[in-house]
Amino acid sequence: MGCYTTRAVKPKIHPTWYPDALVHCACGSTFTTGSTHQKISVEICSACHPLFTGQQKLIDTAGRVDKFNQRAAAAEQKKAEAAARKAARESKSSATSA
Ligand SMILES: [Zn+2]
Repeated sequence: MGCYTTRAVKPKIHPTWYPDALVHCACGSTFTTGSTHQKISVEICSACHPLFTGQQKLIDTAGRVDKFNQRAAAAEQKKAEAAARKAARESKSSATSA
């Protein structure tokens, strides 16, 4: 009759379905869900997301904050070097013109 009594999916055209796929979060919590993957690893889940915990938390698994800080420091150094070069050039030109 309807789709309630027969198979919902056609055979041989769908990937394997794991009704108890294990999801492992970076915070250490695990839970199961349905998926075509047997194991899933995530960076954030409902146990550690700020929305659910109500706590501010820095999510930096890829080290992006570190990278940004390094780039900012490098830019600051370049700026200082450029200023030093400019100062040296100006003092030199004033010395030759004098
Ligand atoms: Zn988590």
